[in-house]
Amino acid sequence: MPEKLTENNPWQTALTQLDTVSGLMMLPEDIHHVLRNFDRILSVSIPVHMDNGSLGVFHGFRVQHNASRGPYKGGVRYHPGLTLDDLKALAMEMTWKCSLVGVPFGGAKGGIICDPKKLSKGELERLTRRYTCAIMPIIGIEKDIPAPDVNTNEQIMAWIMDSYSFNNGYYTPGIVTGKPLNIGGSLGRKDATGLGVANIVENTVESMEMDLKGLAVVIQGYGNVGSAVGKFLSERGCRIIAVSSSRGGIYNPKGLDHASIMKYYQEKGSFEHFSEAENITNASLLELPCDVLIPAALGNQITKENAGRIKAKVVVEGANGPTTPEADHLLNERKIPVVPDILANAGGVVVSYFEWVQDVQCFFWPEKEINTRLKNLLDRAYEEVFRLSEEKGYNLRTAAMVLAVKKVADAISVRGVYP
Ligand code: GLU
Repeated sequence: MPEKLTENNPWQTALTQLDTVSGLMMLPEDIHHVLRNFDRILSVSIPVHMDNGSLGVFHGFRVQHNASRGPYKGGVRYHPGLTLDDLKALAMEMTWKCSLVGVPFGGAKGGIICDPKKLSKGELERLTRRYTCAIMPIIGIEKDIPAPDVNTNEQIMAWIMDSYSFNNGYYTPGIVTGKPLNIGGSLGRKDATGLGVANIVENTVESMEMDLKGLAVVIQGYGNVGSAVGKFLSERGCRIIAVSSSRGGIYNPKGLDHASIMKYYQEKGSFEHFSEAENITNASLLELPCDVLIPAALGNQITKENAGRIKAKVVVEGANGPTTPEADHLLNERKIPVVPDILANAGGVVVSYFEWVQDVQCFFWPEKEINTRLKNLLDRAYEEVFRLSEEKGYNLRTAAMVLAVKKVADAISVRGVYP
């Protein structure tokens, strides 16, 4: 079904970003053309026996963008508003993310249009297992390795691994990353995206000559990624002054205690009416005065409507695609740097890579080693992006994209086109 491209269409955003840097880099037209397209898009329908006896039919996808640098890699997202264009944008972003941080994978993304909050555990399991079988012909340890993303978790990865292993005839942990520890998961993977974001905040704060101690941080989305960022930044002396869930947020300029708000959220399922804070909407949270704003929820949150009112000194993208190109432009004009998603949230796929390596070797590393290797990879990537942006006067997104696209383009060009 053709989808209408609207202003905030994520696929349009991804193409605009690629086209912009292709022009700047003077990328050969044929390679630019290859990169604007996909290796494969699989669309599947997923029949599921529902608890009430009816047969539900869901729709799912696996989108494979480019595998010039290695097997396809990317998460699986469950969301009622998911579109194929979201997945195309996210798959392409995975190609750039893996390239930028130097992990030997290409880009993919998958997902199912569903609201997991409305499904029972049994329904979710049957949906996941049938989806795995539907995409089985195109995934594999050396072909395409799924992982968690929005609304998917360790349990869902365990079902994917089990369904694949059952059909494959043997235990195959390397088929998916982000699994539970006792079936080939990696230490450090659960919090890796958040730890990576915290490391990148540290690098950014250092380059901007700000102080980590007392740094006022606003985090939109306090889920898997956001809450881990909050935990690590609190430990490093920052002040988390506002957080939110999809139902709204809370604000206290003196700082919120990570453990207390987590406990409150676990009990109440929302941050609303937390006693030591003011209730705020997700929209007003983005406009709070602060040092660092971390959108860590869904895409398209900072748009041309609100970019003029952002008061943060820097934006660090914990989510994928939270800033539209128009907003990027406005923030650039206002001299508010944006640390792009492909750098800021790459910690997840970096530790996914470590998990895959450990699974393939059946040899597991201690957490300290994982976190040190993660920090080294991200420090190097940050340094390269920052240096190029200073040298050429590019903003950080452009610098990151130039570095990432170049490595993929070089791989395509040296491999050549078969036959
Ligand atoms: N879903 C995460 C991302 O967008 C992780 C992907 C992975 O580990 O493969 O980067």
